This record gives sequence, structure tokens and C-alpha cells, in this order.
Amino acid sequence: MKIESLDLPDEVIRFYLDSGIEELYPPQAEAIEKGLLEGKNLLAAIPTASGKTLLAELAMLKAIANGGKALYIVPLRALASEKFDRFRTFSSVQVKGEGNGGVRVGISTGDFESRDEWLGSNDIIVATSEKTDSLLRNETSWMQEITTIVVDEVHLLDSANRGPTLEVTLTKLMKLNPGCQIIALSATVGNAYEIADWLKGKLVLSEWRPTRLQEGVYFNGNINFHGSQKLIESRAKDEAVNVVLDTLEEGGQCLVFESSRKNSVSFAKRSGAKVAETLDKPTRKALDELVEEIIENGETEAANELAKCVRNGTAFHHAGLNSAHRRIVEDGFRANRIKVISSTPTLAAGLNLPARRVIIRSYRRYDPNYGMQPIPVLDYKQMAGRAGRPHLDPYGESVLIAKSYNEMTGLFDNYIDADAEDIWSKLGSENALRTHILSTIVNGFATTREGLIEFIEATFFAHQNDTWGIMDVVDECLDFLRYHGMLEGEDTLLPTVLGRLISTLYIDPLSGAYIVGGLKKAKAESITDMTLLHLICKTPDMRQLYMRSSDYEVINDIIMARSDEFAVIPPRSKELDYEWFMAEVKTALLVEDWINEKSLDQITKKFGVGEGDVHAFADIAEWLMHATSRLAGLIAPEMSTDISSHVALLEKRIHYGASSDLIELVSVRGIGRVRARKLYENGLKTVQDIKSSDIATVSELIGPKTARKLFEELGIASGLRPSGSAEGIKSETMS
Ligand code: ADP
Repeated sequence: MKIESLDLPDEVIRFYLDSGIEELYPPQAEAIEKGLLEGKNLLAAIPTASGKTLLAELAMLKAIANGGKALYIVPLRALASEKFDRFRTFSSVQVKGEGNGGVRVGISTGDFESRDEWLGSNDIIVATSEKTDSLLRNETSWMQEITTIVVDEVHLLDSANRGPTLEVTLTKLMKLNPGCQIIALSATVGNAYEIADWLKGKLVLSEWRPTRLQEGVYFNGNINFHGSQKLIESRAKDEAVNVVLDTLEEGGQCLVFESSRKNSVSFAKRSGAKVAETLDKPTRKALDELVEEIIENGETEAANELAKCVRNGTAFHHAGLNSAHRRIVEDGFRANRIKVISSTPTLAAGLNLPARRVIIRSYRRYDPNYGMQPIPVLDYKQMAGRAGRPHLDPYGESVLIAKSYNEMTGLFDNYIDADAEDIWSKLGSENALRTHILSTIVNGFATTREGLIEFIEATFFAHQNDTWGIMDVVDECLDFLRYHGMLEGEDTLLPTVLGRLISTLYIDPLSGAYIVGGLKKAKAESITDMTLLHLICKTPDMRQLYMRSSDYEVINDIIMARSDEFAVIPPRSKELDYEWFMAEVKTALLVEDWINEKSLDQITKKFGVGEGDVHAFADIAEWLMHATSRLAGLIAPEMSTDISSHVALLEKRIHYGASSDLIELVSVRGIGRVRARKLYENGLKTVQDIKSSDIATVSELIGPKTARKLFEELGIASGLRPSGSAEGIKSETMS
């Protein structure tokens, strides 16, 4: 099917022809035949890189030409940016008619308690599912104007963490905009028809790929495919390293999936020693530039570790990297400078980073309850599907590694020749339902128990299960919400002011109950930073650090020494809860170190985490401290002491990772906590102090480049006296 033959505005057709796309891929053509451009709902369950995004683009552009508005929902922030950058290329496409400008695109991933009304003027809005849920909770007005919804990676309905939010968000959107077109994009899963059925959509199910994919298993010196073998020369002790070297020899790049961060780092190091020998001079030079960038953007020893690998043409990639390092590694790989990335499976779920060969070194993953377990077929297919760069590689290959003949045949049976599992709704548990029941009532989607049941009947859970089974869970949730003063009434369910606030703050009602309880109990004389930090680290919304065996004694001693500081009485050490309590305290200690300006190097070493983790903990802590601040404002009359200002200050300190004395300086854009401390220690303690100083003095402390930027930021002509206006320097949006 030719692009030119589609019922789309000329500008859209020209745009695609100009970018070299003339003919639709078979699954795209099937989607058109099934009504993609006529507003029909559709589920496209097709492999990665088979043109799912483009399929969605056609529907969105058609909708915009008809005066509509599209919402593109993704599971991860990183994906939101990737799609945003892609859709921005439509800014020159005048689909709305001459004089109405090109397509406007917005991205919404920021604070949960904001409506982002300003985004309403866009034609396409990209958002994560959590942000979409929060926009619905905050009753953002443009939500009702959406005419096309694209849901990327809809198979994540199966995820215990994110699935319920996605499911409830979609159910709400379908109720809010009944005529809206829904286009769901999915990996190939066993029961794709069931999701399509739930969405009242047509199904496009296909295994077609633009680049051929060969799936094989390495065993005993060969990669074995169905019907063929490839001999791999043995140049290193590690078999996977040999497979890597073979790929490079063929002119390809390699993605290696490992089961843990530690293994991904050690593979990058190990293979680096051999990969380095294959690099030519220009590549080495290009890699040296990346190394410099890595060192410049790192504050911990991990940066040196990464730099060492990159110098050799390899890299590791996991959630512990800081965002600058992640970007450098991804871009370096795309530009074919970095030849090998060894990664935890996060990369398979997240970014569009294909390679000639994918090596899955471990098909087992650690499960806290059951130990090492084989991964689902769906996860294997997602990783294997990264092999083969469309238009660049002639083919792609994925390789599992077997130690015995039996293991090899098992891998063929259980992965290569196996179908992906069915996906199942995870909405049925109290933990998942509690928050969504509250928001459903707050936003008026249900006002009685019967209304609530009717709402649940419309979810994917009810599509797969008899709802009878969860009615007692629903009642338990309602009792919980009433008991904690978030809901009133028996026949008519009415949210209280507290219930409303908790819903819009986007926290779990259980977190809300812990925080409110803690704030009411806290006594003025014993409140410290730890009191409040532990309170938020106790909530189910906080991610918790694991306890390592070496931690027990240290954390136990800290709990004993600081027992007065906790808003709750610590459980006795023999109780089961004590283990949890220790993990909460350990997490709170990390945030405490962060706000007391311990260096990232110290924190990452002490807690055994990466820079990326510290920022992730700080992000969640800031959001929960913000919620605590808002809740403290609401329940002020019931608190024995006013701690609002303490909470508000902590929120800021977590944002900047700084002590209170530094807040004024660090609020100026571009200074950062380390440089701000340097200025402070040298007598430049306030913005006014800097204004009264001169650029030479400041340059000596923080370097000429930053000093110049700082002076510009403060509206001071370099070296001259300040112009007097301090306006704009403390705007929160600038941070
Ligand atoms: P997915 O979302 O399934 O990963 P994309 O839509 O991003 O896939 O497509 C992957 C690549 O293939 C992109 O570079 C895209 O421009 C290109 N592509 C998509 N459809 C076509 C087509 N019909 N003809 C040529 N290239 C295409």
C-alpha cells in the first residue's frame, strides 16, 4: 500500500515521502484496512521496530487535520522524551490548513499536583501513564478535548507496579470521552485478542519485521540456529566475549543483557580488554572525547569505571547511572563509537537502541521470593527483538548462551519456539485498588458502591475475571478510606477534603494515613529532620533500600541511638516488622546524607547505589515531602505543634541536596550545591554578597565559565556593579 494512496492531507503525505517512506509495511497496511484512518479503535500487536509508532502517527495526524487532539501515553519518562523529539518534527507540517501553523507538540512529565493547563494548546501531548492519571485526578480541562489516544506498550497492563494505573486511566478516559479513538500498541502477547476486545477494537497481530531476525543458542563453539550453525572463533576465555568479537568482525554492534548491574559492569570491563584491540584510530579518538564528557559529568568513582570501559569501546548501562552518563552511552552507541553495551533488562523495555546482535547472557533473574528464576518468554522476545537495525543491518541475530546440549534444546523449546505468555490484569489486590477507588470517587466516576462496581465492570480486570471475587477487597478499601477520614457516607460516597487532597497529591491513601498519623503524633521537642524523613520513607510510595548483611549491626545501633527521633515507636528487634523498619531507616539515612551535603561519591559508596539511584530517591522524597507539607497545612489545627515551616524547608533541601544555610545561593540557576558551598565558605553567603563582589573573585572560586553564567543569571554585566534588580533569580522554575 502506497503512502500516496492514503486518505491524508497532502502535507502529511509529502512529509513522509520527503523522509523516504513510500510504501506501508504490511502490518501498517492491515491497520489502514481495519479503519485506522476512520477513527476505529485498534490494537497493533507487532514486534519492535515494525512501524508501530508510524502507524500511530498516521492516526494522530489524521485526527488533527479533522480538528482533533491526540494524547500519546508511554510507560517511562525516557520514552516520553524520545517520542516528543520525534513528534516535534511535525512542526513544519501544516495539517490544520494554511495559516494555522504546524503541528504543536507538548510533553507532560512534571509534578503530579499540577494540571498543566498550558499544554492544552498543543495538538499532540505526550505523557506517562502516571502523569495522565494525575492530570485526570486534577481535572485538567483539555483531557475532554482529546479525540485520539495512543497507548504505547499496553502489554504492561500485566505489570504489578504500573499495570493497574494504566488500566484505570484507560477506563476513565473511555468513560470521559466515549467517542475517542484508541490505538493501543503492544508486543506480541498470547492473548492480544483479549485486550483488543476490551478496547472494543480491531486486532492487527503480526510477526512481520522489516529486518530479518535469527534467533539462536550458543553452545560449544557455535551459534546454533534452526537449520544452520555459525562457528565462533575462540579468542577469549569467556564465550560471550567471543560472540561479541565475532559481531564486531562482521561490522556490527552488540547489546548484551545481563541479570544484574554487577554482572553488566563486569562484562563491560572484561570484554573491553579484547574489544580495544579491534578499534581503529578515528574511533579511539572519538571515544576519548566521550571519556572526557563522562568524567566532566560524574561526581563518583563509578564515572571512572565507566570511562575506562568507554575508552575500550564498551559500556555498561543500568538505572544506577546518572542521566548525563546514560545519554552519553546511548548516543555513543547510536553513533557507532561504543561497540558494546552490557545492560540490565531496563534498556530492552525502554529505549529504541537496536544492534546487529543481541546476546542474552542470562535467562534467569533474581526474584526476592523465589531466588533465580527463568524470565518470561515475553521478556526474552523483547530483548531478542532489539537485534537488527532497520535500514542499517542486513539482518539481526539474538543469541542465548547454553552450557550443555540439554540446556540448548530447552532454550529452543522454552524461548525461541515458545509463544509469549498471556497477560493478566493486576488490579485485584487491595494495594492496587485503594488509590484508584479513592480517585474514582473523588473525580465523580462513581458516587455509590453500585456505581463503583459498574466502573470496575468496565476495567480489563473485569473483562478477564468475575468481579464477584474482588467485592470484599473493594469493601475493605472503602472501610479503610472511611476509617482514615478520606471518605464519608454509606449510600452516597462522598470524598472529604482530606480524601480529595490525597487523590490530587497522587499518593497512596495508605501513605496519606501514615503521614497524617505521624504529623499528629509528632512532639515539638523531639522533631528532627530524621522524624520527617523516616515518616515519608515508611510510606508505600517510597522505594526502599535493601538491607545488606553488613548493614544490620550499623543500622541497629543507629536506631537505638536515635530512637527518640522517630514518630513511631520502633518495633522490637525480634518482630518481623523490624526488618522493614531497618530498611526504612536506611533509606531515610541516605536522604539525610543528601540534604547534609555529603558528596555523591560518599553516598554511593556507603549505601552501595549509583548516582542515578540517589537522584531517584531524592525525587520521590521531594514529592512525598511536598505532599507532607500540603497535608500539614490541612490538618494544622489537629497538630500539637506547627511544623509546616520545617517540612517546607526540607522539601527545598531535598530538591537541592543542601543544608538550610545554602538555600538562597543554590536557588540561583546553574550554581549547584558544590559550587554554592565553595562560595559560602569564602564569605559569599547571599546573592547580595555576590552582587557586591567582582567576577575575578567569583571566577577563582567556581571557574570563569560558571562565574560568567552566574553573573548573567543575576543580571550583572561581568565585573561591573550590579544593575540592582534581583528579579528572576529565585524563580523555582529555574532550578
Ligand atoms: P516501532 O514503533 O514499532 O519501534 P517505528 O514506527 O519507530 O517502529 O519504526 C521503526 C523505523 O522504521 C523508523 O525509523 C521508521 O521511520 C521506519 N519505518 C516505519 N514505517 C516505515 C515504512 N512503511 N517504510 C519505511 N520505513 C518505515
